[in-house]
Amino acid sequence: MKEKSTAEWQAADAAHYLHPFTDFKSLAAKGSRIVTRADNIYLWDSDGQKILDAMSGLWCVNVGYGRRELIEAATAQLKQLPFYNSFFQTATPPAIALAELLAEVTPPQFRHVFFSGSGSEGNDTVVRMVRRYWDIQGHPERDVIISRHNGYHGSTMAGASLGGMWGMHAQGGLPIPGIVHIEQPCWFELGQAMSRDDFGIKAAGWLEARILEVGPDKVAAFIGEPVQGAGGVIVPPSTYWPEIQRICDKYGVLVISDEVICGFGRTGHWFGCETFDFRPDLMTFAKGVTSGYIPLGGVMVGERVAKALIEQGGEFHHGYTYSGHPVACAVAIANIGVIRREGLVERVRNELGPYLARQFEALAEHPLVGEAQTCGMMGALQLVRNKASSESFDASLEVGMVCRGHCFGNGLIMRAVGDRMIVAPPLVMTLGQIDEMVALIRRCLDLTLADVKQRGWM
Ligand SMILES: *Cc1c(COP(=O)(O)O)cnc(C)c1O
Repeated sequence: MKEKSTAEWQAADAAHYLHPFTDFKSLAAKGSRIVTRADNIYLWDSDGQKILDAMSGLWCVNVGYGRRELIEAATAQLKQLPFYNSFFQTATPPAIALAELLAEVTPPQFRHVFFSGSGSEGNDTVVRMVRRYWDIQGHPERDVIISRHNGYHGSTMAGASLGGMWGMHAQGGLPIPGIVHIEQPCWFELGQAMSRDDFGIKAAGWLEARILEVGPDKVAAFIGEPVQGAGGVIVPPSTYWPEIQRICDKYGVLVISDEVICGFGRTGHWFGCETFDFRPDLMTFAKGVTSGYIPLGGVMVGERVAKALIEQGGEFHHGYTYSGHPVACAVAIANIGVIRREGLVERVRNELGPYLARQFEALAEHPLVGEAQTCGMMGALQLVRNKASSESFDASLEVGMVCRGHCFGNGLIMRAVGDRMIVAPPLVMTLGQIDEMVALIRRCLDLTLADVKQRGWM
């Protein structure tokens, strides 16, 4: 590609490129930051500034940038067979081998996979598959899927409908019919009057109330992220998921775990459902399956649903051109190989996760921080105006964006969800790199505090 200066890239970007989840006009006025290369946990922009990527790209580059194993797997597969589909009673070796490998690394109820090109498409597959399952059972009326406010399940019509982002629903007539939402298990926002454990039971109870309101004979499934990612790294109380499982079992409701972020080691187990102790019937994955090197997603299909689809379903009229893309599958196999060889899941569970948790406990002492949470290699810092009373800032002040601005200026990528600052760093970090990240976070919190005081907001 021809080299351009930063200003030239920004001008071409503003002229032609509509970015996802972006206010086009304000970005064009400001100019994008142009990221040009990466290595390990660091990025470099077109001005040569080095940036510590505490978000793993977009929750996906779990094995870090520049891994030869993944690059070579892609190159070799591109040479051997760059594409073939699985529509016409055909298959390719990488797709078959990955399906076999996924059956090995996922919980025992999963022996089958349906591939997609992304997490959103995976959740479209989930909606169709769940409804097809109940059709096959002779209960087509059981088509309602219950999801949660502030959950994120992607940006296609079904993905955005399952998600509980009201801003997304307001554009394009969503949600699609048959999807309803309950409140999220966010203790900071909804539960501070009680213990976390009691709140977990209460929040799960909202599911039972909604099942009874809709009618148990109409409810097909419940979907949730083990830990809500894009919603702000909301770690549920440990009582929440087992109670959700109990309620779903009671009414025969299918449980769907959206593992697009939590899967492949981020929470310290291979999948978030193992960390939070529940047993999903379906599991969506994407992002970490290839560490983001190339797009791939899919749905793990548990025995209950797989048996019905296979034995009684006939043709399932659904699939994507890139379902089981051989290059993507080859990269996923190499990526899972790295995770296994380097023991990354165990490292997150036994070493990195506990270390990050201790560093975040220390950050919780900062005057701006009202709550600090971590789960494996993800963490959140809730910024507050008054630490003692947990009083929030006025949302219109966008204090999270002020903090994010300081992060950008100081070579750290940390994301703001409202006033919640979040990280999901690569799983290959060293303890020294965690120290480096936390020192940057602390500096940015101090700068934000000074800024907020100077503006008279605190
Ligand atoms: C990112 C994400 C998705 C959507 O995945 P895409 O690959 O962007 O379509 C779905 N669910 C969760 C939990 C996600 O974090």
